[in-house]
Amino acid sequence: MEALRNCGYAKFALEKVAAAAGTTKAAIRRRWPKRQRLVICALASILVAPPTPDTGCTRCDLTRTVRLLAETLHAQLPNGILAPLIADCAADPELHEHLVSVLVRPSKQAATAAIERAVERGDLRPDVDTDALVDLLAATAYQRALFGGAPIDQSSARRLVDIVLRGAAVDFERLVLISEQRGQRHDSSRLLHHD
Ligand SMILES: [Zn+2]
Repeated sequence: MEALRNCGYAKFALEKVAAAAGTTKAAIRRRWPKRQRLVICALASILVAPPTPDTGCTRCDLTRTVRLLAETLHAQLPNGILAPLIADCAADPELHEHLVSVLVRPSKQAATAAIERAVERGDLRPDVDTDALVDLLAATAYQRALFGGAPIDQSSARRLVDIVLRGAAVDFERLVLISEQRGQRHDSSRLLHHD
């Protein structure tokens, strides 16, 4: 993984991986016949599955979901890896599926669980389109990771979530009130549960 971080995707060299792993190029080729697969496996080893936020506060749970994804895309993925990796996997359905399962699905599942809990609590309307909400919450992070733009910090994540909540909440003002009643921990930039 260090080789990937240092060299970038295009220059990602088997020799360096072999040296870093204390093995030979031939051994690595046998195990990972496709470079993309090696890169995806390297990503899987650094991307920990995001915890599903469960603070009891819908505004905080969704904000944390957005921040965890943004953190993965901006801080954990080596720079310049995402677009070439997606392109390289596009023609091979199996590789594409592997990439999605490592990179996309874990954060989608965390967001889906947070939204379903919010519907159960009566915070979001029961008829909300969960898949659409999940995609809306993730879209800005992917857009910026692929095409550039400021990293998503706590306050921009909260603004994004509020835009989505205004369209999906049973009573948006009530959710704001709940989050404000819980005190300043809601303004913390740390990704910690506040209870
Ligand atoms: Zn909260």
